Amino acid sequence: MIYKNKEFFWHNVNKENKNETECWEWDGQLAKNGGIFTWNKKIRPAPRVAYILSFGEIPNNVQVRHFFCNNNLCCNPNHLYTINNYDQSAIKRFWEKVNKGDDDNCWMWLGGKDKKGYGIFYYKKKTLRASWVSYIINSGMMNKLNDERKQFVLHSCDNSSCVNPKHLRLGTHEENMTDKMIRGNYKGENIGTSKLKNEQVLEIRQLYHDGNYTLRQLGKMFNVDKGTIGDIVSGKSWKHLGGFITMPLSKKITQEDILIIKNLYENGVSPKNISDKYNISLSYTYAVINRFLSEEVI
Ligand SMILES: [Zn+2]
Ligand SMILES: [Zn+2]
Repeated sequence: MIYKNKEFFWHNVNKENKNETECWEWDGQLAKNGGIFTWNKKIRPAPRVAYILSFGEIPNNVQVRHFFCNNNLCCNPNHLYTINNYDQSAIKRFWEKVNKGDDDNCWMWLGGKDKKGYGIFYYKKKTLRASWVSYIINSGMMNKLNDERKQFVLHSCDNSSCVNPKHLRLGTHEENMTDKMIRGNYKGENIGTSKLKNEQVLEIRQLYHDGNYTLRQLGKMFNVDKGTIGDIVSGKSWKHLGGFITMPLSKKITQEDILIIKNLYENGVSPKNISDKYNISLSYTYAVINRFLSEEVI
């Protein structure tokens, strides 16, 4: 019976002679805001039913939106995406930190930045690059923000804090390095044989923090041994540089510890004293404090 209902739904969608990229308009019952259809004993917007029939049931707090078209009647699942309330407010919070200019100009990030000038945005207790978030929002794939493996978003402009989606595209880490070399950021540096430069150390910390590469892979990529990378990411070496210090598992501090650090700091205890008290590196203490200072934590 459900199958029949499903057939009946698509019967109301005008997709004859239409390809995958065109709008498939609703031909059935209409209400104020567009097409409606009774599915599972509830009257729902037709595009929502199209989404459910194509991709499966979705929770009540998740909304179906049109992405490629702004056509209320369109039921082409390729034109639809879902978004929940949390992500909706995250998107709002994100754009509040952007100085949007003309379409083609750079849109500068007004929120916190990392040492390399890339905007940072907090989402579900994770630190994300603002350019990556902008790319994801623009492509309507908010669920990608929860992926452990992140791809690089490259700037076609030279502004690391620009978040204009028109200036952003996806790339691999290798491409990112090449891109920098082409633009002269790495001029004269021989990545293979010279000692690591500050910028590379920060890059290593960022990459490890993002979880895309193991210590060994990073060693290969930067032509140093695994141990060297381990020291870099844990803050044992290059202490002064900062960046994303990832604590070794045995020393991992808890969410509760982080709140205590925040309290101590707000009550005037110096980072040095906090790091002594908790026996954690000074750079990590700074990283925790900076995180509170630069933006609220969700
Ligand atoms: Zn459409
Ligand atoms: Zn730009």
